[in-house]
This record gives sequence, structure tokens and C-alpha cells, in this order.
Amino acid sequence: MYRILAYHRISDDDTSPLCVSPRTFRRQVERMLRWGFALVSLRELESLQARGVRGRIAAITFDDGYADNFTEAYPVLAGAEASATFFVPSGWVGRKGHMNESQLRELDAAGFEIGSHSRTHRELPFLQDDEIHEEVFGSKRELEDIVGRPVESFAYPRGMYDFRCQAIVEAAGYLRAVVTPRSSGHREGPYALERVGIYRHTGSTAFALKLLGVYSNLKRRGWAGR
Ligand SMILES: [Zn+2]
Repeated sequence: MYRILAYHRISDDDTSPLCVSPRTFRRQVERMLRWGFALVSLRELESLQARGVRGRIAAITFDDGYADNFTEAYPVLAGAEASATFFVPSGWVGRKGHMNESQLRELDAAGFEIGSHSRTHRELPFLQDDEIHEEVFGSKRELEDIVGRPVESFAYPRGMYDFRCQAIVEAAGYLRAVVTPRSSGHREGPYALERVGIYRHTGSTAFALKLLGVYSNLKRRGWAGR
């Protein structure tokens, strides 16, 4: 059984629903370990599955490349011998409040996965083909220049995608892409792997339901919101 979790920021800033406090994040990590989950990156998830490893696996992902991913999440995960995937818009690297190149290289060297979250975080389905190419191919090249290894995973900005975007992501050479489906009717595949979002308002019961997959089933039937 595996689940893919989607975080954004790990911060005490309580003005944004995307911020999970460092204390809550630490507790969630401890809880997953207590429940016997292996905490891995998407790259590792795939290799575990390929090797037929069973059991509880949680792939942890972070979107948008915030600096607090490095200062708050990384120490907790490294201390737990856990891994994760960081989805970074390549055009935001080094911006105020975001991770810089040397931080991305340090995460990569520590065994974490750096994935692409496009170049400029535009909603891909509304763009022309050449613009999508620029976001999808361009970010892959720029991130690979930073970490010096193939960037395999992609996260659609705002989770928005369609068949055209999926095809371009596949053509760029990514091996997988993740979404955070907002409604029922989502069709899972390697270029639309489902994640469950963890937000500031996700309490401990909701966290358990999301982790154990109950929540995804309810949402698929249209019984649960975000
Ligand atoms: Zn994003």
C-alpha cells in the first residue's frame, strides 16, 4: 500500500493554508514511522515497486521550492533517515524565500529527489504548445544543470493538466508526473499519479484518513472536498 503526500511550506506562518507548522510536520513524520511507513521519494517509490517490495510506503513531496523546505523539512526527514521529492519551479530558484542552487545540490547529494514544477508555475492547459514545451523541457534542462543528474519527476502547477500536457511531459523524458485531483473523475496513470494534499487545516484524523487512503476513496465518489 502506498500513498503520495503533497506538502508546500513547513512554517509557523498561519496566514496561509499551505503552511504546515514545523511541530505538526515533525509529529506527522513520527506518526508515519510509528505506523510502519517507509518514507521515500517518488524515485525510490518506483524502485521499491519494481523490486516487488510490499508494505506501507509514503512518498513525501513538496511543491514550489520554498526555503523552509530546506531549513525545516530537510533536517526532520534526514534525522528520520527518510527521503522526499522537492518539486521546484526552475525560474524561482534563488528568489527571496525560495531555495537556491547550492541548497538544491545539497538535497540531491543527501539522496533527496529534485523534481520539476515547471519554469514559471503557469497553468499549463491554458498555454500554447510552444509555451508548454518551454515550461516542461526548459525546467528539466535548467534543474539538471544544477543537480547534474536526470530530473525524472514532474508536478503540474496548481495540479492542472490535460492529455496534451501529459504527452509533452512524457516526450520531455520525465518518467512520472503527479497531480492533486480536486474532484472525482480523475484517471490515474504514470503521468497523473494521485497525491493527497496536507494543509494547515489537516487535523490528525484527516491526516490518518488521507494517509490510509480512505479519503481518496470518498473523494472519488464525490463525498469529500479538499
Ligand atoms: Zn505549485
